[in-house]
Formats: sequence, structure tokens, C-alpha cells
Amino acid sequence: MVPVYVVLLGPPGVGKGTQAEALSNDLGLPHVSSGDIFRTNLQNQTELGKKAQAFMNRGELVPDDLTIAMIQDRLEQPDASKGAILDGFPRTPAQALALEKILDEWGGKILAVPYISAPPNVLIERISGRWTCRAEGHVYHAIYNPPKKPGKCDIDGSELYQREDEKPETVTRRIQVYMEQTTPLIAFYRQRNLLAEIDGTLPIEQVTEQLLKVVKKD
Ligand code: ADP
Ligand code: ADP
Repeated sequence: MVPVYVVLLGPPGVGKGTQAEALSNDLGLPHVSSGDIFRTNLQNQTELGKKAQAFMNRGELVPDDLTIAMIQDRLEQPDASKGAILDGFPRTPAQALALEKILDEWGGKILAVPYISAPPNVLIERISGRWTCRAEGHVYHAIYNPPKKPGKCDIDGSELYQREDEKPETVTRRIQVYMEQTTPLIAFYRQRNLLAEIDGTLPIEQVTEQLLKVVKKD
């Protein structure tokens, strides 16, 4: 069996993390979120965390070389031997090319690249209501996906917090960085016949249904 990957593409706040969790449970592949890995490194003040901190706080991208090395290392872990759901990586053409090269070496295959979209007002509303779990980065929304007990993660009981980079100026910058640096990947994956457009404004369960159709088509 060749390892298989799903690459979730879309702007900050559109629901990539939420959907990656659902796909991960359904397909039995780990959810690999570059943002979560950076946040864990930041909390633990590792060398990588210290290098990434200033970029993350400004809403800028962490340099490609650091990001690519980190993801390669994660994808080499035994739990990812059958593949992974990639959330937040790749985010630049250089990262997409690096991923292609890594997967070529391993004989890995990208099943599909769902591109989830929603207009900026929806993204801002979602980000401003987002609550994230300390332990594993599970996400909730104050209105659209509230936890069963306020302030606690349903899955692991850990504390929910609002991220440092969710200030309105930083959110606007993150959306701008996405427009400039990540949108070229839409054409990149369309050219490779992997892109599937998904309406991200629908409720969570309906987005999941669309994604499962795309991913399980063959
Ligand atoms: P969101 O869920 O809002 O899209 P993420 O959690 O994916 O945000 O990312 C948070 C921050 O982590 C980004 O603003 C950026 O600084 C850094 N980051 C995450 N993924 C990447 C990546 N692939 N390349 C560079 N920086 C990244
Ligand atoms: P991303 O990883 O793309 O930044 P998240 O999965 O963290 O996005 O979702 C951002 C916020 O929006 C979270 O609070 C999440 O609970 C909420 N959310 C995600 N998908 C939907 C949806 N389809 N409808 C309403 N709220 C959603």
C-alpha cells in the first residue's frame, strides 16, 4: 500500500482544522497541522519554537526551510506510515514543490486537494469565536460548535484558550498573507488535476460530507 495524503487548502478560519479532524477519524490517518506543531514548539520553547515565534505573532509565514524540515520529520513518524491529512501545509509554492519531491522519494500519493473557501466576513466571524484546546489543539466555536462544558475540551478535558495571533490586526494580516503567498497553490494543484472546490460556508457536517465524497471517489 502506498502512503496517501489529503492536502486541505483554504484561508485562515475556513475550517481546515475542524475538517481535518473529521477526515482523520473517518480515514484512520493522522491529522498533521503545521500550525499546531509550531504552537507546541512555542509552548515548550524549543529552538524551532523560538525561531518561529516572531513570525507567528506578526501573522507572517515561518520561513520555508524550517517549515519543510519540520513537516518532513513529522511525516517520517511511524503513525504516519500510511499517509496523513495535511492541514496548513503546504502554504507556498516552494513548500508544495518540496512536498512533491518528498512524496516522489517515498512513492506517496496525494489523493485530493480540497480547496475550502468562504468570504472574509465569514472567516473573521469564525476566527473571533474560535476556542482551542491546550492539550491537542481541538477547536470549538462559541456559537457554531460550542463545547459541552464551557471552557473545557470535550475530547480530553483540557482548558480552552483563545490564540495569541487572533487579534484583529493579526487576523487581517494572516488573510492578506494567505492571498499573496498561498493562493498560487490553487492553480498549482488545479494543473495537477487534484483540486476539488468545496463551499466552506455550509455547516460543519455538510462540509465533511462533501469532503468525504471527494476523497473516497476512487
Ligand atoms: P490558521 O488555522 O488560522 O490557518 P495556523 O494554525 O495554520 O493558522 O497557522 C498559524 C501560524 O503558524 C501561521 O500564521 C504561520 O505563522 C505559522 N504557519 C503554519 N503553517 C505554516 C506553513 N505551512 N508555512 C509557514 N508558516 C506556517
Ligand atoms: P482553520 O483551521 O481553517 O483556521 P478551524 O477549523 O480552526 O479553521 O475553524 C475556525 C473556527 O470556525 C472554529 O471556531 C471552528 O469551530 C469554526 N468552524 C469551522 N467550520 C465551520 C463551519 N462549517 N461552520 C461554522 N463554524 C465553523
